[in-house]
Amino acid sequence: MADAAVELVVRSTRVITPEGTRAASVAVAGGKITAVLAYEAEVPAGARLEDFGDDVLLPGLVDTHVHVNDPGRTEWEGFWTATRAAAAGGITTILDMPLNSLPPTTTVDHLRVKQEVARTKAHVDVGFWGGALPSNVKDLRPLHDAGVFGFKCFLSPSGVEEFPELDQEQLATSLAEITGFGGLLIVHAEDPHHLESAPQHPGPKYADFLASRPKDAENTAIQNLIGQARRLDARVHVLHLSSSDALPLIAAAKAEGVRITVESCPHFLTLTAEEVPDGATEFKCCPPIREAANQDLLWDALADGTIDCIVSDHSPSTADLKTGDFATAWGGISSLQLGLPAIWTEARRRGHSLEDVVRWMSAAPAALAGLARKGAIEAGRDADFAVLAPEETFTVDPAELQHRNRITAYAGKTLHGVVKSTWLRGTQIADHGTPTEPTGLLLERQN
Ligand SMILES: [Zn+2]
Repeated sequence: MADAAVELVVRSTRVITPEGTRAASVAVAGGKITAVLAYEAEVPAGARLEDFGDDVLLPGLVDTHVHVNDPGRTEWEGFWTATRAAAAGGITTILDMPLNSLPPTTTVDHLRVKQEVARTKAHVDVGFWGGALPSNVKDLRPLHDAGVFGFKCFLSPSGVEEFPELDQEQLATSLAEITGFGGLLIVHAEDPHHLESAPQHPGPKYADFLASRPKDAENTAIQNLIGQARRLDARVHVLHLSSSDALPLIAAAKAEGVRITVESCPHFLTLTAEEVPDGATEFKCCPPIREAANQDLLWDALADGTIDCIVSDHSPSTADLKTGDFATAWGGISSLQLGLPAIWTEARRRGHSLEDVVRWMSAAPAALAGLARKGAIEAGRDADFAVLAPEETFTVDPAELQHRNRITAYAGKTLHGVVKSTWLRGTQIADHGTPTEPTGLLLERQN
């Protein structure tokens, strides 16, 4: 370690690098990783050593699907609380969804409003998705130039009136515009006609809610999206995949060269329809949590690469909107702080490694967003780390969550994987679940 500029060395017997897990010392200067060295490498004079022993050092997670809702619906969540929850959970970068805040991120002026609100509150790095609405095609290129990471659209009602969905013709128009400047469209893929014709039985029964959001709605929307992406040679991303029936379509499209990527979420991968109690609308999200057999196929698809990423889709609301009626309750599951242990608990049970989890929750989401400085422990990347005790367990106590509303579908569950600390550009941002100072930066698309 001859580099005189090294100010910090972090060391562990288990460092997860792109080449595998090994004992290593990681040198940090100016907030960046300068070298990954032998475990016993000499610490330069003047540099601080943090030795994590046998705890695992992994790259800070990148969560590209977070609804922060700030400004406008900050009683649901906000940049202060959301980024503190992220830091406590081992996440060092979030991308904020364009809806549920007021204003939504659908013009450059709106983006500036959101950036100003986030700037002093960010405990982790924060970037923004733009929104594609029927009325804002002319705003897409300016938003792209202003640094949004891509554009989100809905194909069925979004749940908030200021963010209307696109029909197939509007989807084609927006997608052609976005493809014209090399952008990315990320899609809430549920077909409105299938939702309209599904049986609607409001009330507390989860089975009735599940029947109202059938797999066919996802399958059809994804099939249509693949057709549009193929025709335009567009780059598209399927948000929060729940229906395993869509996996063969996606695998075939990928094999054929269609530029499509896919994410799923901790709730689809760790919770099942069979276990949702009647009236327990903390489990409500759209598309819905499906049966255990469906979940098994989602895990197979992660293993074979049909599904690329796991991200939270953290979408909280206040308790009063989580009524006992599945038809009218707010649809969204709160999990920002718990995604890593929830996924690791299920992954290890199914024989997957922590390296797999890092690929799904850090490297792949970073690649999706073009975040070349995030998602891996290697020279040149930001010194963003989570320190995890993977063999330790804890029981989820809502009182320990940093989320503004401590409502969670994971309450009382015992999970593997305790996040001991989190580091952003070489600065510790959380210590045993307690966030420190807000040192996050606002990120813009780099390519
Ligand atoms: Zn979402």
